[in-house]
Amino acid sequence: MISENLLEVRQEIQNSCALVSRNPEEVNLVVVTKSVGTQEMTALYQLGERNFAENRVDVLLEKQEALKAFPGIQWHFIGHLQRRKVKKVIHTIDYFHALESLKLAEEIQKRATKVLSCFVEVNVSGEESKQGVSPAELLSFIQALQPFDKIKVVGLMTMAPFEADEVEQLAIFNQLRSLQEMINDLAYDYAPCTDLSMGMSNDFSAAIQAGATYVRVGSALFKE
Ligand SMILES: *Cc1c(COP(=O)(O)O)cnc(C)c1O
Repeated sequence: MISENLLEVRQEIQNSCALVSRNPEEVNLVVVTKSVGTQEMTALYQLGERNFAENRVDVLLEKQEALKAFPGIQWHFIGHLQRRKVKKVIHTIDYFHALESLKLAEEIQKRATKVLSCFVEVNVSGEESKQGVSPAELLSFIQALQPFDKIKVVGLMTMAPFEADEVEQLAIFNQLRSLQEMINDLAYDYAPCTDLSMGMSNDFSAAIQAGATYVRVGSALFKE
């Protein structure tokens, strides 16, 4: 049941915060809806959830249309965004979680009519299959974004390897937090970098312990 799953996830968010004396209100639950339809989304909306994430442009647009009578939803785009699809989606989302190339930044700059809140995706684990800038390139990447006045770097995003144990998850997420603090300390206007998008169904507890402010959870909410 969705409502029971949601209670469990909210409880685990609370417990993870308690472990490290964090205020649970700092942690935003982003519901990843790529495996479900609008019925499940409506159920979660009615249970109070307002942050929804998709990784396909066409599906996102369809769901936005279907849910347009529901006020107050924050829409997130996660996952790889093809440059040719930028113009279709940037004016309909509140957060973009996968900024990982200057070419993509250029396209956003060209198409945007307002500032887009972006997370820079960092490949902390170094897995070849993963998108993202390397930790070593992060500072120069962020500095190269300075001329793009349509991009605001609100934070960093990463994914831990699926098979990582909790010790490895914590190491990866703590590394992302160090990088976030390093950028935040520079106090660039265009890159406040106050947030951390990290943690999925199998590792959001570790992510919260390491400082996540946005956890992206799908399967834990929709399991049978
Ligand atoms: C699918 C996905 C998630 C959610 O994963 P679950 O394991 O279903 O919680 C989070 N982030 C990204 C980028 C995803 O693609």
